[in-house]
Amino acid sequence: MGYENNPKKELERAVTALREDQPDQETMQAAGQRVWQRLGEEAQASKPVSVSESIHGCEDIRALLPEHRSGKLPTAKALLVADHLRECVACRKES
Ligand SMILES: [Zn+2]
Repeated sequence: MGYENNPKKELERAVTALREDQPDQETMQAAGQRVWQRLGEEAQASKPVSVSESIHGCEDIRALLPEHRSGKLPTAKALLVADHLRECVACRKES
C-alpha cells in the first residue's frame, strides 16, 4: 500500500514533524540578534555614556524602580536596572 514498514523512516518522519512544530532555532536566534542590534542602535542614538553615567549605584537604581516596574523606562536604562538587580540583592528586594 505504498506505506513502507520501515521503523527508521517512521522515526525520521516523527523527528521532522517534531522539528516543524518547534519554533526553529535559527529564527529565534535571528530575532535575538535583531533585538540586540536595535538596542545597540538605540544606545548609540541616546548617547550610552550619559545613560550609564547618570546611574550610579543603588540610590539611582531605586529611584528608577517605579518606572522600571511599570515598563516606562527607555530600553537602555531598563537594561541597566535589570543588570543591577541581577547582581544586587538589596535592590532586588526593593523591586
Ligand atoms: Zn543595588
